[in-house]
Amino acid sequence: MAVYTMQTTKLPASICDDIDKTCRKFLWGGADRGKKVNLVSWNEICQPKGCGGLGLKKMRLMNEALLMKLVWRLVSSTNELWVQLLKAKYGDVSPQMSELPNTRKGSHLWRSLGKIWSNTLQNIGWAVGNGTVSRFWLDNWLNLEKPLGEYATRRVPPNNELEPVAAYVTPEGNWEWSKFQEYLPAEILLKIASTHPPCHNLGDDGVYWRKSPSGHFSVSSAYREIMQHTTIKNKAWKLIWSWHGPEKIRTFLWLAFRNALLTNSTRYKRRLVVEPCCELCNAKEETTNHVLRECDRALMVWYKLKVMDVVPNFFEEPFEEWFLANLTSKVVLEEVRWPILFATASWALWKSRNKEVIANEKCDDFNLVSSIRLKLERSNLRMTNS
Ligand SMILES: [Zn+2]
Repeated sequence: MAVYTMQTTKLPASICDDIDKTCRKFLWGGADRGKKVNLVSWNEICQPKGCGGLGLKKMRLMNEALLMKLVWRLVSSTNELWVQLLKAKYGDVSPQMSELPNTRKGSHLWRSLGKIWSNTLQNIGWAVGNGTVSRFWLDNWLNLEKPLGEYATRRVPPNNELEPVAAYVTPEGNWEWSKFQEYLPAEILLKIASTHPPCHNLGDDGVYWRKSPSGHFSVSSAYREIMQHTTIKNKAWKLIWSWHGPEKIRTFLWLAFRNALLTNSTRYKRRLVVEPCCELCNAKEETTNHVLRECDRALMVWYKLKVMDVVPNFFEEPFEEWFLANLTSKVVLEEVRWPILFATASWALWKSRNKEVIANEKCDDFNLVSSIRLKLERSNLRMTNS
């Protein structure tokens, strides 16, 4: 019954939580009498079986996955009657719209779809045929995590932003490299080189669901995607706020994980600077990940702190996983717990970057490492065991 309702309505969070509660009671012995002991937390139980849980579904997330199905059908199947009806009422929709039109005046269903619109569309890819509809910079046609425009190392001329993929092909049918190569990093250019340019006899461009191997939408793949994301996020906030050390470093960790530090990449997106590059090592884009891990300075600091001895894949994991792994590590190095060392060093890297870029004070790499050690020694962070 609940699942049926959830296919067409975004249920209030409290109702979803009540359903979860009933499930929990049932699982641990049913009746309302007396307090039952929950042997495993509900979060753990809702993990997939392969990850040690029972694969039970959290209602809030299940509700979202079911509504994603409707968004998917809205943008991919034009012939269904209900799709035609909604379009007649609210206007045409396409997967290239950044938001669903007319949600303010819309029905409850329409507003519910509006809320999950962009989250759903992030998982959509474009199969390029003749390349006349999919947009080179704004649509995800290379099956990357994000559209090409987000990998650009320089600002794409606004006039070109909306151009379709077909506009990047020569009359002979090859990629027109001169039009994009200076804007994209080498690994992306390689990926384009290995992709067939669009061709007029290949038929229309179309969308597919990137999260399942078949390219067809499935509720389970949507649920998995939402689950993965919320699990990582929830775990992170808890870890960050319980991190044992100065408040200013906790706040720094929170900003870093929210991707809210004012790096040059962020400043560039807000049009505060003309180039997103790193002023310390001249890399093309200064992201949070760059400052804390990829920059020459960061590399040097981590090597001197012997990171490779304790976290072998330190430089390979995706940013969010990397951040979490370091904050949960059980390693103790020279009497300092690794999460303490990791956060203090990350914070020091960010401070030294600001000193140099904003205050124009040169910072010596060697001094930076000793100042991190000193800071750890002076504070009572060394063997805190919480
Ligand atoms: Zn750098």
